[in-house]
Amino acid sequence: MSNDKIWLSSPHMGGNELKYIHSAFEENWIAPLGPNVSGFEQDIQSYLSSEDVKVEVAALSSGTAALHLALILLGVKRGDEVLCQTMTFAASANPIVYQGATPIFIDSEEKTLNLCPAQLEKAIKDRIQKGKKPKAIIAVHLYGMPYQVEKINKISMEYDIPVIEDSAEALGSTYKGRKCGTFSPFSILSFNGNKIITTSGGGALVTHSNEDKKEAIFLATQARDEAPHYQHSHIGYNYRLSNISAGIGRGQMEVIDERVSQRRDMFHFYVNLFKDFDGIEVKAEPSKDYFSNHWLTVIWVDEDITGFSREALRLHLEGNNIESRPLWKPMHMQPVFKDADFYGTGIAEELFKNGLCLPSGSNLNDIEKARIKTAILNFIEK
Ligand SMILES: *Cc1c(COP(=O)(O)O)cnc(C)c1O
Repeated sequence: MSNDKIWLSSPHMGGNELKYIHSAFEENWIAPLGPNVSGFEQDIQSYLSSEDVKVEVAALSSGTAALHLALILLGVKRGDEVLCQTMTFAASANPIVYQGATPIFIDSEEKTLNLCPAQLEKAIKDRIQKGKKPKAIIAVHLYGMPYQVEKINKISMEYDIPVIEDSAEALGSTYKGRKCGTFSPFSILSFNGNKIITTSGGGALVTHSNEDKKEAIFLATQARDEAPHYQHSHIGYNYRLSNISAGIGRGQMEVIDERVSQRRDMFHFYVNLFKDFDGIEVKAEPSKDYFSNHWLTVIWVDEDITGFSREALRLHLEGNNIESRPLWKPMHMQPVFKDADFYGTGIAEELFKNGLCLPSGSNLNDIEKARIKTAILNFIEK
């Protein structure tokens, strides 16, 4: 049996990506604009929009760039404070610092692993009492699991602090039937190589108005004023998506529903694998309101029951050339954010200690699944 590396999440082409890339070459649209860019934006707009909400999409060079532009469009400036989920990838928090603002980190709750509404509210009250009302809240649908949308939005409304919805990992997830990426005036997507669909590298800002989309594209293309010469009244950025990359994205959007169902199949594969095993919980949707794309399947290892740590399991898998990974190391535990304020009770820390992401790619075949199954059973049953 082949012992090739099994990856956590690898690119999975649909088949038509090259067709769109060829048309870019044929028409010489080798630029950060062109028919693939607008076509890709249209594809995502149609996919996310519903009777409840119509969204506009600006295709960008990365999800990080999209977060940066969202902060700028919300007026976040030097000295401001921005609340951010601590349990996330650093790209959720870094753009706060690009703006010269200060991140304040908030713990997770155990149901969705995402922003804890109680700690969020506590933080807001405390910051207001200290004399500075936070400018924005960055909430993340981590690993594809929707956060507690209604509770978070209620707090956002009550204190009048906008939410930026980090949906980088959640394309195809829904909450009460509505797609993640549509619950806030600004949401972001990522199409990096390991995400549920990829453009090799890329991202998007999702807005609720055409003005916001236009403003984002203006800033993403060096903020040129209307003039025959180059004239600038704002600082701009070079954040637009290439027409070649967007071609990959168009091919990928043709298979997004298939990719969601394949990722969810991987989740059910693990639910089945661990169903009779005490001390390992496969993190599932807390109720029928939640529908996760299960970008990555997460397990929680209770060492007191299993007798082994998640790290022992991870190393065993690595020995079998199977990649698995601890959950994101919380931002308040990162050396670079060691001085940042944090509101929480240690849940994110526990998740980091005991949680493990298992191979979840939509392209894992039966032979690879059998290898994963054998490797895990050999370890947990011994
Ligand atoms: C991938 C990711 C990002 C950043 O997206 P890039 O396209 O890699 O810049 C932001 N937030 C989360 C939660 C992510 O997983």
